Amino acid sequence: MTNVVVVGGQWGDEGKGKVVDLLCPAFAEVVRFNGGNNAGHTVKFADRHFALHLIPSGILQPGCRCLIGPGVVIDPVALLEEIRMLEDQAVSVRPRLLVSPRAHIVLPGHRALDVARETASGAAKLGTTGRGIGPAYEGRARRTGVRLGLARNPRRLREAVAAASAELEQAIARCPGAVAPSADEIERTVEAAAAIAPMLGDVSRALADSDAAGRPILFEGAQGTLLDVDHGTYPFVTSSGCLAGYAAPACGLPARVIGGVLGVFKAYTTRVGSGPFPTELFDGTGEQLRRRGNEFGTTTGRPRRTGWFDAVAARAAVRWSGIDAVALTKLDVLDELAEIRVATSYQVGGQTTPEFPDDAEEVGAASPVYETLPGWQADSSAVTTAEKLPDVARRYVERLEELLGVPVAVISTGPRREETIVRRVQPFAGWNVAP
Ligand code: GDP
Repeated sequence: MTNVVVVGGQWGDEGKGKVVDLLCPAFAEVVRFNGGNNAGHTVKFADRHFALHLIPSGILQPGCRCLIGPGVVIDPVALLEEIRMLEDQAVSVRPRLLVSPRAHIVLPGHRALDVARETASGAAKLGTTGRGIGPAYEGRARRTGVRLGLARNPRRLREAVAAASAELEQAIARCPGAVAPSADEIERTVEAAAAIAPMLGDVSRALADSDAAGRPILFEGAQGTLLDVDHGTYPFVTSSGCLAGYAAPACGLPARVIGGVLGVFKAYTTRVGSGPFPTELFDGTGEQLRRRGNEFGTTTGRPRRTGWFDAVAARAAVRWSGIDAVALTKLDVLDELAEIRVATSYQVGGQTTPEFPDDAEEVGAASPVYETLPGWQADSSAVTTAEKLPDVARRYVERLEELLGVPVAVISTGPRREETIVRRVQPFAGWNVAP
């Protein structure tokens, strides 16, 4: 068995939750390695529906242990709410969840600062989720953050939270109209952190022992490769590393433990928040994708921007994350279209290029060069074998494989766990992880 990283290959919301949920039965451990509760995964099976933000989707598989690594920033109130939501639905969480004491706490002041800055930026805002994730990572880099491990020592936790909150209050005061959090709100965070303390433990040690014992690990990425803080469309990016290569070191493991990378891509593209999006559609087709694909954020409910599949951006993501195989989701959303376009290169400053520019303004100014493929105008929803897909839909998938240079191993034809085609292609079949 191979340790596998699942990452988004686009700007997030690719359907990673469903793909991770599908693969989980083959893994003993599922670990989140980046981001915070700005991520949102939706998992549906039978008549059940779960929206997860911090806890890995593996929690829905009774045999899996779930871990939250040191590189994740945790809002203790949100984590506790998520634990309770799952427990209310008879999912056992506390005995199966291990949280790194090195993970940083998202304080109410981080949230207030996030919202205040976005409001003050007006049209120039980044489009963050307002959950305080960026300011929490900033605090980590400034070395003024509070780590969850302090929850094991209530006195030290209170002191650290008070010091960090006082510093944040000064920053909030500089934003016109912003309101600093109340003492009660800060106290709720301290109490929630204390409630999480029994779940704290050494994530690196636990995973290293599992790896040595041959218990396979699934690393669950949040956001998407194009939102990576270094490689994405900076500054319209998230504040953590999203590339698959970060997964192991972020959890205190050597990079060599990773055996394979599965990249999740939608059959088209979406983006939430601001930032360049060359293949964005502003017409009825864009609206059709939004409606059929139910493209509204899990975390914020915001309508997502929609557009054609961008093979230029996707090829960059394949290289940056070392994607070995693709899980292609939401193929069914394209069912009604008469024709489908795919960007194969960009026109930038009068030049045609197959490369994704490093500068966000340049990406924004790029005109996609499209290849137009026929639509299948037939029902692919809920199809579970490749043979039953309309021929034209299969050809679309094959064309994406050619453009990306990697095989499509999983095709998702509906939101439910059951609505999936698994293709035994290499190297995916060799990982021996298929459900
Ligand atoms: P994630 O953050 O990458 O896990 O993505 P989200 O869960 O936010 O968004 C994916 C959405 O698409 C969820 O509402 C899923 O239930 C839904 N979804 C996933 N795969 C498919 C699919 O193949 N077809 C359709 N129609 N919906 C899907």
